[in-house]
Amino acid sequence: MSTPTAAIETTPTEMAELRLKPREERRLTAGHLWIFSNEVDTARTPLTAFQPGALCRVVGSHDRFLGYAYVNPHALICARIVGRDPDYPPGKLLIVHRLQVALALRERLHARPFYRLVYGESDGLPGLVLDRFDDVIVGQAGTAGMEALKADVVAAVQKVIGPRTFVWKNDSGARALEGLLGYVETAFGPEVAETVVAENDVRFFVPVGQGQKTGWFYDQAANRRALLKYVPGRRVLDVFCYLGGWGLAAAKAGATDVVCVDSSAPALELLRRSAEANGLDQVRTERADAFDALVALRAAGEKFDVVVIDPPAFIKRRKDIPKGQAAYRKLNQLAMQVLARDGVLVSCSCSHHLAQDDLVLAIQQSARHVDRFAQIVEVGGHAPDHPIHPAIPETRYLKSLFCRVVHD
Ligand code: SAH
Repeated sequence: MSTPTAAIETTPTEMAELRLKPREERRLTAGHLWIFSNEVDTARTPLTAFQPGALCRVVGSHDRFLGYAYVNPHALICARIVGRDPDYPPGKLLIVHRLQVALALRERLHARPFYRLVYGESDGLPGLVLDRFDDVIVGQAGTAGMEALKADVVAAVQKVIGPRTFVWKNDSGARALEGLLGYVETAFGPEVAETVVAENDVRFFVPVGQGQKTGWFYDQAANRRALLKYVPGRRVLDVFCYLGGWGLAAAKAGATDVVCVDSSAPALELLRRSAEANGLDQVRTERADAFDALVALRAAGEKFDVVVIDPPAFIKRRKDIPKGQAAYRKLNQLAMQVLARDGVLVSCSCSHHLAQDDLVLAIQQSARHVDRFAQIVEVGGHAPDHPIHPAIPETRYLKSLFCRVVHD
């Protein structure tokens, strides 16, 4: 950042300090952004003195300034670094800078304005997600600190992007960990119930404010693209289809017959409207629990050349790992049982706590269970507009394994 003078004027001189215990600064200086409550020198700077979302200066040994952070005394991650340049305290100016840097990457990656614009910690804005649907921006603030910076985020988006509408979809369950309630609100612009995403030559109707997460899963975009070569002339099953990101793309790319399964009636309603608007009449939807639907399809003797399973995160916390692993194993087994000879299974997991090797193991065990031989032919992660923060493993979560499954 080259013009610090403007920022200095806005530096709150009385911003409170958060002091770390001796030797607790190593992780931060190595690049991490999170501070845990046991690392704070609470004798000198008690956490209870901070309001949730308050800004602070983080100070290490020998009075060394480590960065600006926001604090939540009630959360396990009690502070997150927002900036390390002493001339730029968190506020509109810093967020404008972060947005410009984030936008420059997305403009290199995408020819059209449909992408994840900000991916939290990985874009230097902890707790903030912004997805762009052309002139509609949907934001999610996941922490008390980001909640407190909302007005600055809105002003920065207005300046850097200038969209027609900005909606906060602050209804994720994870907000409870920060003591935050859920709500949806339009920050500026006309209220919109629906927008459109263009992907893989299909125009998808996307709910604004009502759907899953921000409304669309940009994280799978590169993997959905990778699917297209497997589908011409084939029968495709899209399980946990949501708005049909995989299934409609497959239909457009020449699949003869596509079955899309999800438990959400509103999602399937939008999917059917998208299918119709795109002239994809080989698509059928089925509202059901995915496990039940797979059992029923097998019982009916149905076979598919390509099966995609893209479930919600079965493992949200570490303690769910054993149960979650069992669910992934079960799901992969059921999917292989409806796979035709020499079929392709796309097996996904968005659980950070499920290691890629565990998903590989689930596939191996499932293949043995049904007496097949599986080859992993492609390994996909989240799309490049979800960059990984090298110090924060939690920013890497998605695994999409493309497997060929043949008779042994
Ligand atoms: N494949 C989608 C994203 C899936 S998100 C895409 O590429 O955009 C997970 C979906 O699973 C949601 O639509 C949710 O409604 C659905 N879902 C959750 N639990 C389910 C279950 N037990 N059976 C069927 N669908 C389920």
